[in-house]
Amino acid sequence: MNSFQFQNPTRIIFGAGTVNKLGEQLAEYGKRVLLVYGGGSIKANGLYDQVQQQLQQIGAVVHELSGVEPNPRVSTVRKGIELCREHSLDFILAVGGGSVLDAAKAVAVGVPYEGDVWDFLMHKAQITSALPLGTILTLSATGSEMNGNSVITNWEENLKKSFGSIHAYPKFSILDPTLTYSVPANQTVNGIVDTMSHVFEQYFSPTTNTPLQERLCESILQTVIENGEIALKQPDNYEARANLMLCGTYALNGGMISVGMQNDWSTHMIEHEISAIYDIAHAEGLSIVFPNWMKYVFNARLDRFVQFAVRVWQVDPAGKTDEEIALAGIQATRDYFTRIGAPATLGDLKINGKELDRMSKETVRFGSVGSFKSLDADAVHEILELSL
Ligand code: NAP
Ligand code: FE
Repeated sequence: MNSFQFQNPTRIIFGAGTVNKLGEQLAEYGKRVLLVYGGGSIKANGLYDQVQQQLQQIGAVVHELSGVEPNPRVSTVRKGIELCREHSLDFILAVGGGSVLDAAKAVAVGVPYEGDVWDFLMHKAQITSALPLGTILTLSATGSEMNGNSVITNWEENLKKSFGSIHAYPKFSILDPTLTYSVPANQTVNGIVDTMSHVFEQYFSPTTNTPLQERLCESILQTVIENGEIALKQPDNYEARANLMLCGTYALNGGMISVGMQNDWSTHMIEHEISAIYDIAHAEGLSIVFPNWMKYVFNARLDRFVQFAVRVWQVDPAGKTDEEIALAGIQATRDYFTRIGAPATLGDLKINGKELDRMSKETVRFGSVGSFKSLDADAVHEILELSL
């Protein structure tokens, strides 16, 4: 295990009906609020009215940034920054899925910065401060509710980049599993795949002697696998939705499950370059690429892939070589994704090989990616070819 520091400043308010706690949470911070939301799901399910009621009760002044896109655009973030400056807003409230939360974080760090917020995504400037931010999560997937990460797309340049900062952690996040009952099946699948992928990025690590972290990862994977299938059959099953929500939050909350371990993240970096060009859902790209990344790298640490197959997928090791066990675990991952309805090839999404060169080069713009196995542009190209 490596030495580490860990800090997570986000307060979690979890449970049915917790939107009613919004007013008291906000009271600690500001009353001039930018309310950030997406394309209308919060209006359709009544959450918007509940939030407005809470804001009115504390006498908040509210301006809105609505229409945040899945794969949120930097152009939308810039509009939010302008609104905050123009109306001297002092708190950002994000109500939605990961895209809304990520856009809100980018607004939060962009307001006190004199330059253009895109500088942070291109590693041209350091984040040193942010407006305080709170969230109400409506989709379990990204972990954005309890981490300092944000992924933003520059559509004019077909780039999708991310930043992570301690300043961008939400002050509080309200997690009410009943708010996810209305998440459609395809987005529920995306959430399952994204949560599992976040665990994979940390679990497949070159670091050794981390038994607690490995078991934390394995138990999140097993909990998601079991509860994902229940939630897909029964969208309003409270326990299944609650378990998925907690797993999504734990899977990526500043590295709690992988303290002292080197992480990989190359599959996320590859995926971002696919959705930057084709605007597919993040988890669709992950579902396609992850099992192919696994096939490409598994020999770098066969023991970890054997453990994964046996502990997570209950592959019977009897009579099999280590390589056969590892490959059976990778196949079980692919089969699960297919069973719940996630795509398996870029062709499934009508994406051909035309842009592979560009995507491979862009993935390694800031240097080679991955720590389980370091990947250069050629290696990324090969993984993308396997994914066609
Ligand atoms: P999302 O893009 O936020 O939302 C997807 C869709 O689900 C939207 O159309 C949204 O509709 C709808 N939706 C959300 N909640 C709903 C509900 N309760 N009922 C019905 N529909 C609902 O999905 P996401 O997977 O959470 O976020 C994906 C983004 O996060 C990607 O850009 C990805 O790259 C990024 N990401 C971030 C992190 C991180 O750590 N910050 C990690 C991984 C990925 P409305 O727009 O109408 O609300
Ligand atoms: Fe992700």
